[in-house]
Formats: sequence, C-alpha cells, structure tokens
Amino acid sequence: MTGADSRDHEISDARLRRHGWIEVITGSMFSGKSEELIRRLRRAQIARQRVQIFKPYVDHRYSDDHIVSHSDMRIASASVRSSSELLTQVADDTDVVGIDEGQFFDLNLPTVCDALADRGTRVIVAGLDQDYLGRPFEPMPQLLAIAEYITKTLAICVVCGEPANHTQRLVASSDRVLVGATGVYEARCRHCFDPQLAAAEK
Ligand code: ADP
Ligand code: ZN
Repeated sequence: MTGADSRDHEISDARLRRHGWIEVITGSMFSGKSEELIRRLRRAQIARQRVQIFKPYVDHRYSDDHIVSHSDMRIASASVRSSSELLTQVADDTDVVGIDEGQFFDLNLPTVCDALADRGTRVIVAGLDQDYLGRPFEPMPQLLAIAEYITKTLAICVVCGEPANHTQRLVASSDRVLVGATGVYEARCRHCFDPQLAAAEK
C-alpha cells in the first residue's frame, strides 16, 4: 500500500466510526424531563439501536427497574450506585445510553459521560438543574458545560400559571436530597418560588 493509500484508508475509517455526543435535558421537577428522556430512548429502541438505561439507586420512588414519569410513562432501566458502576455496565456495542436523575450521581458523572461520548456513544442525561433552594445542583452544571445539546424544560407554576423554573419544597427539611413528589414538591415560577418556605414551616 502506498503512503497515499494508507492515508485514504485512515480517513475512511474515521468517517465510518460512530460519533458520540452528550445531550442534557434539564429543568425543575414536573417539567417533563423524564417524559422527554423516555421519548428519545423509545425512538432509538424502535430504530433497533442498542440502548442501555440507568438511574441512581437512591431514586426508587415508583420502581427499582423502570424510569417512571409523573404522567406514568415508563421504560425499563438498571439501577446503579455510582457513575463508575454505570461505566462498567455499558457494553462495547451500545449505541445510546440514557441516564435519569443525573443530579443524584457523584461528581464523576461528567467524566464518565465524556468517556462514553468519546468512544462513539450517544449519551442522554436528564436531571434537575437546581436544588430546593434554587442553587445549581451538581453535577448537572458541569454536564451542561460539556454537552453538545441542551434542552431546558419548564413546568407550569401551580400558584399563578406562568412558566415554572423552580422546584418548591413544601415540607420542612434542610436535606439536599429528600426524595418525594406530589405533596413534597410543586413547580413554581420565579415570582412564586419561596426558598424559605421549607424552613419557615418548621
Ligand atoms: P420531571 O421528570 O421533569 O420531574 P415528568 O416527565 O416525570 O417530569 O412529568 C411531567 C408530567 O408531570 C406532566 O406531563 C404532567 O402530567 C405532570 N405535572 C404535574 N404537575 C405539573 C406542573 N405543575 N406543570 C406541568 N406538568 C405537571
Ligand atoms: Zn407563579
């Protein structure tokens, strides 16, 4: 093979290789993040792509082996205890990796997503961008910084009906992770959001 031939060969190899990337779906609770994640993953499954779906072990509100949206859409998933465990579970030939509740993972999740995207995987992560006080919820900000595609979802403020970007905690607790849904949290807009409510009602 001449030098030019081998260069052509390398170029066509690179063109044939799958290109990975990171998509992030983020917003408040009830904004439709899980619905959107499930929609994208279902389309990939219908197209017979190899899909693996994960969620953190902490989130077993409705199910241990499914991602379940507040509107009861569901898709089978595996629970993992860390981002490194997630990485060990991804098969070499997996085309698409879906991850829900990204904010409940450790700070290594962005590095794991980067490694998967670098080896040609489409990585889709859904998660809260803010905690109950409105502070950025790690590791979502770091993921947003490195993602190719970002979708911001908004709920409807249950007080005034405007677009809701906040998760209002309704019960008194200063734990950053307090798993719950209806009755514990509701969606509120910037104007109606009151970060002190969780403390004031003690
Ligand atoms: P997320 O993953 O962002 O918490 P889900 O995808 O699980 O959201 O659920 C979205 C669904 O939640 C909506 O389709 C709707 O049925 C329900 N829902 C409950 N409260 C609200 C709200 N205030 N605004 C919009 N949707 C809401
Ligand atoms: Zn409002």
